[in-house]
Amino acid sequence: MLRVFRDDLLHSNRFLVTLELVPGREHGGKSVETVIQIAKDAFSDGRVSAVSMTDNPGGNPSLSPDVLGSEIFRLGMDVIVHFTCRDMNRVGLESRALQLAMMGMKNILALTGDYAGQGFAGQGAPVFDLDSVSLQCLMAMLNERIESSGDPDGFICGCAVSPFKYTEAESYAQYAKLSRKANAGAQFVITQLGYDVCKFTELIQMQQLMGIDLPVIGSVYILTPGVARLMHQGKIPGAIVPDTLLKTVQEEWRDPEKGRAAGIERAARLGVVLKGLGYRGIHIGGVHRRFEPVARILDRMQQIEHQWQDFLNDFLFSPPDGFYAFPSQQISAAISPDYGQHPVPIPFWEACHYRLMDITHTLFFNPDTLFAPLYQYLSRHIDSSRSGRMALHLIENVGKQIMLGCRQCGDCAIQHVAFQCPESGCPKHIRNGACGGSRNGRCEVHPDRWCIWRQAYRRLATVKKTETMMAGCIPPRRWELDHTSSWLNFHLGRDHQGASGDFARFCASRTSCGYPSARWHG
Ligand code: SF4
Repeated sequence: MLRVFRDDLLHSNRFLVTLELVPGREHGGKSVETVIQIAKDAFSDGRVSAVSMTDNPGGNPSLSPDVLGSEIFRLGMDVIVHFTCRDMNRVGLESRALQLAMMGMKNILALTGDYAGQGFAGQGAPVFDLDSVSLQCLMAMLNERIESSGDPDGFICGCAVSPFKYTEAESYAQYAKLSRKANAGAQFVITQLGYDVCKFTELIQMQQLMGIDLPVIGSVYILTPGVARLMHQGKIPGAIVPDTLLKTVQEEWRDPEKGRAAGIERAARLGVVLKGLGYRGIHIGGVHRRFEPVARILDRMQQIEHQWQDFLNDFLFSPPDGFYAFPSQQISAAISPDYGQHPVPIPFWEACHYRLMDITHTLFFNPDTLFAPLYQYLSRHIDSSRSGRMALHLIENVGKQIMLGCRQCGDCAIQHVAFQCPESGCPKHIRNGACGGSRNGRCEVHPDRWCIWRQAYRRLATVKKTETMMAGCIPPRRWELDHTSSWLNFHLGRDHQGASGDFARFCASRTSCGYPSARWHG
C-alpha cells in the first residue's frame, strides 16, 4: 500500500512510523542492496510512512542520501532526506534543495549536523555557514518560490529536538531553539534518542506552553550492546543511554537471541508509551540488516497498545540530580516550568564582563538611542576614507580580541549569545541556539569547554532576559563583510541586523511564536 508522508502528517488521526536507514560508504554492493531491500520490505508492509536517509552520519563520508533515496523513492516508498549544514555552504544547500525538489523528494529533516569527521586524508573542513534555524528559513523561502511558480507542493521540512538535557541551561536552550525552528517554518519534530518518559512528557508540555502546535515523532531504537556503549560514552551526539540501561542491555545480550527479542520488546513498549503520551509517531532506528525487526515492533505495538500505562515505569532512566522543567514529574500536570526559579550563580569576572558589554552595547549599538544619528554620521565619515576604515578596524580588533576572542567576521553576533563570540566560542558557529550534542553543559566538539549556549543562559538568567534566546530567528553571517569593521557595518546598516538582504528581511518578518517566557521568572 502506498503511504505518503505528507498525507500522513496532515491527517492527525494517522500514527506515523518513520524508519531511519544509514547509507554505507560504497556506491553499490551489499550495503546498498541491504538498504534498498529494507525499504522494499517496508513498502510491502505498508505501515511505514517514510524511510529517512542519514546525511554523512558522524560527519564521515557515505553514499549520498539523495541518490540512494531517489532509488527508494522510485520504488514507491516515501523518503525523508536528512539535510545538514556541515558539508555545504548556503549556495550548495540551496542547489541541493532545488535538485531534490526536481527529483520530487520534498521531505527534509533540517539539521545543524554532527561535527566534521574523518574523510579522505583526514578530517574534513566543517562548513556550518547556516545552522538548523537559518536552514529552516532557507527552505521556507524556497517554498514561497516553489508555490509562486505554480507548484502547490513545497518542501515538508522538519527539525530535531533533544529533550534529554539534564541541566537547566541546556534544557532551556533546546526549547528556546525549538521555538525558533517553529518560528522559521518547521512542520514536524523528531526527538533525539533517550529513555526518560518524564523528558518525553516535558517536551509535549513545553510545546503547549510555547504555543508550538507541531506533530512530534519520538525516536525508538533497537539497542545492541555495541551501540548502547557508544551512546553511553557520548560518542553518538545527543543520544542518551544511562548506566543502568547499558548494564541491562549487556545482560540481555549474553544470549543474542534473547538480546534481540528484548530490544524489540523495549522499542515496542516505548512506541506505545509515546503514542499514549500524545506523540504523533515513532522514528525507528538501529535497523541495519533486514526489515523483520520493524514488523515485529509494529505487531507487538498493536498487541500491547491498550496497556501503555503499564510500561511507564520501564522508562524512568534519569540521572539523580537531573533538571526537569516540571520537577513534580506529574505526567499530566500543566504547571509552570521551573526555569529561572533557582539562583544560577556565575563567576564574578563573568558577571562583570557581561555587564560591561551590555552597557557598551546599549550606549553605542542601540539603534533607538538618541546618539544613533551621530554614530551614523561619524561612521559614514570614517567609512569614506581607507585610513579611517583601517584605523577603526585596528582599534575594534584589539579590543574585541581581548574581550571576546574575536575572529573579525565583520558581522558581529555577540548580542545574540549574551556577549560571547559564536565564531570563536562555538565550533559550529551557531547563532540561533545550542546544537543537540552538548553533554552535561560541555561542548560536543570540545568537551573541555562549556557550550556557549549554556553560558548564555546562565548570564541571561541573572538579568531575567532568557526569553531573548527564543525571540525571532537570527539571520546568518554575511560573508561579504569578512575582515571589515563590524562597528561600521552595524551603524551603516550593512550587517545581518540591517535587514538589507532577502534572508534578513524574511527573518525579521517572522515574529516569535514563543510563550511569554518572562512569566517563568516571576
Ligand atoms: S558550543 Fe554548544 S552549540 Fe556549539 S558545537 Fe559546542 S555544544 Fe554545540
